[in-house]
Amino acid sequence: MEKKIKQKGLVFVVSAPSGAGKTTLCRAISRIFPALHFSISYTTRPPRPGDVNGRDYHFIDPEKFQEMNDRGEFAEWAEIYGYRYGTSRIILEKVLEEGQDVILDIDGQGARQLREKKLPGIFIFLLPPSVEELEQRLSRRKTEGKAAMEERLKKAKVEMAEARWYDYLIVNDELEKAKEQLKGIILAENCRRERMNNVLEDILTGK
Ligand code: ADP
Ligand code: 5GP
Repeated sequence: MEKKIKQKGLVFVVSAPSGAGKTTLCRAISRIFPALHFSISYTTRPPRPGDVNGRDYHFIDPEKFQEMNDRGEFAEWAEIYGYRYGTSRIILEKVLEEGQDVILDIDGQGARQLREKKLPGIFIFLLPPSVEELEQRLSRRKTEGKAAMEERLKKAKVEMAEARWYDYLIVNDELEKAKEQLKGIILAENCRRERMNNVLEDILTGK
């Protein structure tokens, strides 16, 4: 049976095609909300130059990934460009139980799994202003060769169609504006009445 994820904190699921600026935006937002927890995924992809184990990802071999998966330790997982990526259910639950909000930077396949498991998350899709701009950003980043870049662009088009079922869309045209929009979503979601029930009761009862 699927395990339901227990939660007190909010989960913000942010998806975007590779190169849309998700890493840049998430880093900027972590400076605004230092208490926001960034979930560190497990992956079988080898580290890129500059990647730090335990900060960017937990880099593990395919056997370890399979073992964790067999034990039901992933809240979601997906195979992307031949490598596996997964979110630890145990860590996610622990952080949420402590009342902390969490950001998950995961692809559309993973987001869909969480939605199908009825995770009461807030699903946000980050779009590039256009496919041409996405191509330019990917080539400027210089982390992929030509073939890998083409594969990412092809996947980007498929992924962008998935944006239709997300709760919020942010177009990363100007980084500053995108940052303000993401900040606004996080603040507004925390002011929802369901989140504020205890505060309301305390005020009403004079506690
Ligand atoms: P992702 O994590 O979505 O794959 P990155 O954050 O690595 O994308 O961004 C891809 C490239 O685009 C990087 O070189 C980054 O500096 C650049 N970039 C990100 N946001 C913007 C923006 N709003 N305008 C122009 N370039 C951007
Ligand atoms: P990269 O290899 O460029 O760091 O990431 C490739 C893709 O994997 C990105 O779209 C990123 O959001 C996604 N990704 C990273 N971690 C996870 C995860 O735990 N689960 C899923 N489903 N996707 C992930």
